Amino acid sequence: MKMKLLVVEDEAQIAAFLEKGLTAHGYDVEWASTGAEGLRLGMAPDVALVILDLRLPDLDGLEVLAGLRERGAVVPVLIVSAWGEVDDRVRGLDLGADDYLPKPFAFEELLARVRARLRPGPAGAGVLRVGGIYLDVLTHVVNVGRAHGKPVGP
Ligand code: CA
Repeated sequence: MKMKLLVVEDEAQIAAFLEKGLTAHGYDVEWASTGAEGLRLGMAPDVALVILDLRLPDLDGLEVLAGLRERGAVVPVLIVSAWGEVDDRVRGLDLGADDYLPKPFAFEELLARVRARLRPGPAGAGVLRVGGIYLDVLTHVVNVGRAHGKPVGP
């Protein structure tokens, strides 16, 4: 099953570039061109990750992020923005962003960060644990005694 990524970006050229590259790497891409649309589409349960620009015509990207978190969305959010100042980075992470990539960026780096965020594992946000039982929230695979379904040693 393809994972769905939501790109919140008002600049059509950048959005098209991201959509093309991410689609070529096997992701399903949905595009929101405004903050309000990003907030609406970001609440969909099948969105695996949100790529969020901070400069949007209606809402500030950080308002979109805060809105998603207020409404209980736990979806990973990767901020991609020209606002590379430390203050914005810190504010974004404080508001619940999972990662921050300053523009301009190499597509390969964005891709690597997306992969890292979506990779299930004991250190990732994608695994819930109750006692010795692990639920991978991305794949819905339940494992007993280990975080994911890979064979255990030797
Ligand atoms: Ca923008």
